[in-house]
Amino acid sequence: MQIQRDHNWLKFRLETIWAKHFPDIMVANNVFVKFGRPCRTRLGSIKFGRKTEDPNTIITINGYFKDEMIPESVVDAVLAHELTHYAQGFCSPHEQKFAKPHQGGVVNHELIDRGLADLLRSEKKWVKANWRTYLIEHEK
Ligand SMILES: [Zn+2]
Repeated sequence: MQIQRDHNWLKFRLETIWAKHFPDIMVANNVFVKFGRPCRTRLGSIKFGRKTEDPNTIITINGYFKDEMIPESVVDAVLAHELTHYAQGFCSPHEQKFAKPHQGGVVNHELIDRGLADLLRSEKKWVKANWRTYLIEHEK
């Protein structure tokens, strides 16, 4: 059986990673996850929604990741990266832990501390070996 990578699938991936690797991080506001447009450079992003009071958090995942050619581990690693920003207080109500979101590898350090070193490694490996070719074959 093939599982369709629709919105519910993406939401389930995020919830699974959250429960397994970020159980101490409270859901402090509404957090939405969605597929964005296919994009060559940005694999994922996190931002605040427009509301000025209690703004929502919106995590956007590269639209190319709807394609089953992209390993699930790559999608999971990007979700975990964005969730780390949330945990560290970027685009989230949590206390901001660093001056800048990518300061001195703080995201990767946290991912490793949370038991995601293998996931991170397999993402980097796949992206390095396949992403350019994938884009050549699929870019419109
Ligand atoms: Zn980031």
